[in-house]
Amino acid sequence: MSSKKIQPVMVFADEDGNIYDHPDLLMLVRRGRELTLPRPDELIPLPEGSDLYLLPGRHALGLDPQTGKAEALEERAVAAFVCPSYTLSATAAYLKDEGSPNLPLFAYGAVGFANDRFWVAATQVDKDRRQVFTQVAPERITKGAQDLLRRYPENRLIGHLARCALTFCCPAAKNLALGRFEAPLPTSKACNARCYGCISHQPLESGFPASQNRIDFRPKAREIVEIMHLHSKRAKNPVLSFGQGCEGEPLTEASLLTEAVAIFRSEGGRGTVNINTNASLPDTIPDLAKAGLDSIRVSMNSARETVYNSYYRPHGYTFADVCRTIATAREHELFISINYLFFPGINDTESELAALTDLVTQTRPNYIQMRNLSLDPELYLGCVGEPTESSMGLGNFMKRLKKACPWINYGYFNPYLEGRSPLLWT
Ligand code: SF4
Repeated sequence: MSSKKIQPVMVFADEDGNIYDHPDLLMLVRRGRELTLPRPDELIPLPEGSDLYLLPGRHALGLDPQTGKAEALEERAVAAFVCPSYTLSATAAYLKDEGSPNLPLFAYGAVGFANDRFWVAATQVDKDRRQVFTQVAPERITKGAQDLLRRYPENRLIGHLARCALTFCCPAAKNLALGRFEAPLPTSKACNARCYGCISHQPLESGFPASQNRIDFRPKAREIVEIMHLHSKRAKNPVLSFGQGCEGEPLTEASLLTEAVAIFRSEGGRGTVNINTNASLPDTIPDLAKAGLDSIRVSMNSARETVYNSYYRPHGYTFADVCRTIATAREHELFISINYLFFPGINDTESELAALTDLVTQTRPNYIQMRNLSLDPELYLGCVGEPTESSMGLGNFMKRLKKACPWINYGYFNPYLEGRSPLLWT
């Protein structure tokens, strides 16, 4: 049955974690401060590989179809953390108790129930299956990681990544252990930004932990190159990526990266060499490109400088530097992705669309990775400021941007490049 005829009821949970669907009250969704029924075209069945979270100190909120009023229950609210390659168009609706704890670093999607299944407000933006492990026996990952440790006992970076695969279940580290898709190459202990939602460093006062331990050593170029050769020989379409969740900003180690990439290429290394970055240091790009870098992914929560600064809290660089990095990457013919941290109600607004259209038109990136900004919604609205405009919805936002910038493609992951053309999953 198409989602157009679906009107899910709200779900709620008891203190033991049992989830129930309400007999009458309807599912509500949130975009910024707007509380509405879900748009018919934004509902999809909860994707395989997604998780459901119970929200501490937050009460489930639903709509009474008789009165048209929102009703809060005593019971707990539930949110969906959708699996990678899906972008949320609305966040969970709930009533928060004064003094309840900050939520950890996830994206909290709106979820409801109908026709014996859960429904979420989200869109699939990529068919790439690199972070789907449902068909992979966990033993294969364990064996793969242990093999790497046995074969490369001296390589500290392999030691770090094998632990990430076995302990933190990091999808990129698991793919290295399996010898498929995209391999991680973390290198930097430091960062020149202080993102509110940084997953590798959180000040104590934030009230929630970083979800990954930041790397605590500086790898040698040879240790990096060893992993690059190992993965590019095993993976069908290898992507080798600097800039991972377990490190600071890789451009702060630009000379090390340039050295490693140059050695890798000089030894016949094949594959897409990519850097995920906050794009703060434009002058490092020419050497990296000459050394053999293929693509760059630039992270931002907004194309509006004030909204960007509120979240990234840059140290020693400006939004203009970020734009100059993209333009420099364009000059050096790198494949450019924007890692766009989307938050419903903040990004799908007229002023954001205008700012992003401007930035994309001037700097001409190739690809926009539509990611979910993973932070407690209250904290994020507190950090970037209350929205003052209504939201047009994710679907409209993507359509209108594509209309204004027809050369861009949308996705979720760093594509493998054949020459300079992305190999996209269709
Ligand atoms: S740029 Fe990355 S490492 Fe730096 S603060 Fe932001 S999320 Fe953390």
